[in-house]
Amino acid sequence: MTTPSLESKTLATSSLKFSQSEIPTVPETQTSPDSCWEDAQKILVILAHPDDPEFFCGATTARWTSAGHTVVYWLITCGDKGTSNRELTSEQLCGIRHQEQRAAAAVLGVEQVNFMDFPDGYLVPDLNLRREITRVIRKERPDVLVTCDPQTLFVGENRLNHPDHRAAGQAVLDAVFPAARDHLNFVELWRDEKLEPHNVREVWVSGTLNPNIRLDVTDYWETKIRALYEHKSQIPDPEALAERMRSRLAEGSSRAAPRYEESFRRIILG
Ligand SMILES: [Zn+2]
Repeated sequence: MTTPSLESKTLATSSLKFSQSEIPTVPETQTSPDSCWEDAQKILVILAHPDDPEFFCGATTARWTSAGHTVVYWLITCGDKGTSNRELTSEQLCGIRHQEQRAAAAVLGVEQVNFMDFPDGYLVPDLNLRREITRVIRKERPDVLVTCDPQTLFVGENRLNHPDHRAAGQAVLDAVFPAARDHLNFVELWRDEKLEPHNVREVWVSGTLNPNIRLDVTDYWETKIRALYEHKSQIPDPEALAERMRSRLAEGSSRAAPRYEESFRRIILG
């Protein structure tokens, strides 16, 4: 399916497209992420917690939806441990975070938000989780899948990666290949639920220390911040958050002329 707006964007930026053999091994800034594809794509984002899509790839998502691509979220947990408020139960927090995630997604142009509701904080990349994600992939049948890097154990000198992020990334990648592709993997999905195998064409891994593509998302940075504001239970001081986000300048830019990027490991499976 091709939309006129996508065609015109593609024509205008065709020099930025590249084929699999041309994927840069050194990170390279693409000024127009929607120029990666000629046709409208179905993009499935599978991450661990509400607010992960906005923090990891919110500006890219806004850019993709504005270019006519369809983005669908599946959150593996509802983030039901993410509070220091001792009055809140996990069940109450789960409900709050469902609502916050839907509101944040709407800011980015994402209309479909789904939850698997695994318990927050206890995620392990076992066969059960892999089967559940395989079911989602076979039902949604995306062209492109976005998840996070299971290899990221720590970031810089003062941040540990959340174990749920690592577990989610591992389970999603293992579901893409080979479980979603091969009908005898979790044969009950094909035999009993009539879910045909599916080949995901591209995987975009966020939260990676080894990106091979950097997208210029300057025009969507404030949209990302507005989406993050919707996660009210997680953000005690919105202004401090905005300041922190605005300080994440791309290399070579300044507060006077800011430029922002989101980076990924893009893997084209064919
Ligand atoms: Zn998270």
